[in-house]
Amino acid sequence: MAKKTFNIVTLPGDGIGPDIVKQAVKVINRIGEIYGYDFKITEKRMGGIAIDMDGCSLPQDTIDAALASDAVLLGAVGGPKWDNLPNGDRPEKGLLGIRGALKLYANLRPAVLYPQLQHTSPLKAEIIGDGLDILVVRELTGGMYFGEKANSPKFNPENKDCWASDLEKYSVFEIERILKTGFEAAQKRNHKLCCVHKANVLESSRLWRAVFDRVKKNYPDVETSEMYVDNCAMQLVRNPRQFDVIVTSNIFGDILTDEASQVAGSIGMLASASLGAGTLGLYEPIHGSAPDIAGKNLANPLATILSVPMMFRYSLGLMKEADAIDKAVMDVLNAGYRTGDIFNKDLDDASKKVGTEEMGDLVVKALK
Ligand code: NAD
Repeated sequence: MAKKTFNIVTLPGDGIGPDIVKQAVKVINRIGEIYGYDFKITEKRMGGIAIDMDGCSLPQDTIDAALASDAVLLGAVGGPKWDNLPNGDRPEKGLLGIRGALKLYANLRPAVLYPQLQHTSPLKAEIIGDGLDILVVRELTGGMYFGEKANSPKFNPENKDCWASDLEKYSVFEIERILKTGFEAAQKRNHKLCCVHKANVLESSRLWRAVFDRVKKNYPDVETSEMYVDNCAMQLVRNPRQFDVIVTSNIFGDILTDEASQVAGSIGMLASASLGAGTLGLYEPIHGSAPDIAGKNLANPLATILSVPMMFRYSLGLMKEADAIDKAVMDVLNAGYRTGDIFNKDLDDASKKVGTEEMGDLVVKALK
């Protein structure tokens, strides 16, 4: 019987991107060997490397390949070399461009603190307990980042009459579809969902709340709550274990996901997924291109490796294979292996401090 084929596009990008994507590809290929799948992996350019080689941060050829694929795995883009280009292009423009081209409107960011890595969280042990597992679902294509922009005719910070505005506008359609993503995620987890808004002040949030009140009736198996965003920011450091799934708007999600990632410890451990209406999704670590450690075998590849189980679950429907990768990572951590960013000299065995390549090989070896 022919093996089932999956087409995956990789966008290693810049800085440590190629170092870490290489490790995730090793893991995908090993899963293919063990479980009998044919993963066709095509590498494309995006970000600074595409500016250098193709003249723009997101070549059409990359968009076409991504649209024709089952899923896209991204490393990271950016670096000081491309910060002030005369034509205004930036590696990060490629990132916004690919999300737009693939019509991805939901960003899923798990904030997981593994019990073995409690020391990487800035919170006290009694708050963290035996670890954290929160999923923040952020709306990605609406709100003030994309709303109407306006300013007075002359943009002049010296003129007190000068003004600028960004419109926070959401439709029922946009709110409903992101809430649905959140509820469906909660159903696959601990059946708890908190809708975060600022309905005491913002009209747009009042609409969020009203739609939430209606939509939640369709999910009687999910325990719901709502919270003002300022309270949520506080609760994330005070009592983060009360949360399972948080669903919120673009700007609130942008801020809360960064806070949740810090609470969860090292950014080298955290994966993310961006999803649209179909199964095609973009998977990436939450960190940047870390130019300071690029090519030095120092980067933690686990955030990128942990993007693969998300890809398997949300885009490819490979549930047990996803569990196998999660378990392999857990086994490697349990065996005491650490990259520099998660290594603690007082707690960890110095002989088990490993580099990017070794960490990738250890996960591959632990796969069953
Ligand atoms: P960064 O996340 O790249 O690095 C912050 C710090 O964390 C650095 O000290 C870095 O060495 C460390 N770090 C990051 N990932 C690590 C890993 N996997 N293992 C070990 N240590 C790790 O953030 P930054 O320095 O603010 O940004 C660097 C570049 O990345 C900038 O050009 C920025 O625009 C870009 N960026 C890209 C993305 C993306 O591609 N999604 C996201 C954020 C930043």
